[in-house]
Amino acid sequence: MNAHQERVNLIFEKIDTLGLMEKVMKLGNDKILEYIKESGLKGRGGAGFPTYLKWKLAADQKSDMKYVICNADEGEPGTFKDRKILEEQADKVFTGMAICAKVIGAPEGYVYLRGEYNYLVPLLTTKMNTFNEEMQKLGLNFTLYLRSGSGAYICGEETALIESMEGYRGEARNKPPYPVEKGYLGKPTVINNVETLVYCAMIVLNEGGKFKTFGTEISAGSKVFSVSGDADVEGIYELELGMTIQEFVDLFGDGDTKAVQVGGASGFCVPRKKFKETIIGFEGVPTGGSMMLFNSTRSMYHILMNYMEFMQEESCGQCTPCRVGCQQLVKGIQAIKHKKRPASYLDDLVKLAKTMRVASKCGLGQSVANPFISIVENFREEIIY
Ligand code: SF4
Repeated sequence: MNAHQERVNLIFEKIDTLGLMEKVMKLGNDKILEYIKESGLKGRGGAGFPTYLKWKLAADQKSDMKYVICNADEGEPGTFKDRKILEEQADKVFTGMAICAKVIGAPEGYVYLRGEYNYLVPLLTTKMNTFNEEMQKLGLNFTLYLRSGSGAYICGEETALIESMEGYRGEARNKPPYPVEKGYLGKPTVINNVETLVYCAMIVLNEGGKFKTFGTEISAGSKVFSVSGDADVEGIYELELGMTIQEFVDLFGDGDTKAVQVGGASGFCVPRKKFKETIIGFEGVPTGGSMMLFNSTRSMYHILMNYMEFMQEESCGQCTPCRVGCQQLVKGIQAIKHKKRPASYLDDLVKLAKTMRVASKCGLGQSVANPFISIVENFREEIIY
């Protein structure tokens, strides 16, 4: 373990959340926004939108109703950190939501919990009831509710999540309008990831400053990583952003790491020769937290097939580039492997993946190209032979 891991403990640090909310009630909303802005926090779901801006846009909307939603639909393969955060730090997640609610003027908040995490419902319901009573006593007009997710990967996409909450099929909406203007039930809505909300609570607790002392200029702060695969010390770790993959592998690898899949099935595969030059962060490879390590015993063909079959399965089928594209990529690499297509066909598949990146309607289809191209380009022989 290195200094990074010893220094960062913002997510799992025990704090007095009620004391923090008492402090928040005395703070002006502009001051809270200023703390979040100064911190440089970007959403920890992977997309990296500035949290301050999202809150400000929602706060500026004129509406009779607004909502805060915690996206706890953790579905990226290799990610298991939100589950742990909710198990151990639910109060901090709720506090982040309450702070957001105060700033934007939302009387209701929802935790959209991944269906597979339903075992957490009793725990979260108990904690939520206590939290709601505390907020009433503090004079904050804010009530939290829990929603069970629909068990589809696409429901982690914010507009599909809203559709699902409204009782429809989980399908992505066209953007704009963005949820901050027209979200749940057509009202301004802030949707933040579990981890982002905890950081918001910690940033306000520390009055902005401490968070920015971690990370880099572009990727401020720290992040929770779920480490899995051929890792000597798999598990959940909070580290500063800005490390190289090499530093990461030195900490967690088994000494024989040949590739790291950063960001799950929708992320990038980084080969050994690029470990030293690749930064974990928004200036290099952004990630929602999933870090899968593969050693030389692994077949990159099987890994690629695994991701592509997953994407094919989870594609909602709404738009043609993604629905047909996913199937063609799966069939294509199988055909090449079994010599039913020439190796050059791989270049056609790369073009198809690039087309999906620009022509698909939502993040699922757009991101299929990330694992596909990065694995094919760096491990071409393993895909063909
Ligand atoms: S990109 Fe895929 S998941 Fe997204 S809307 Fe199109 S078919 Fe559905």
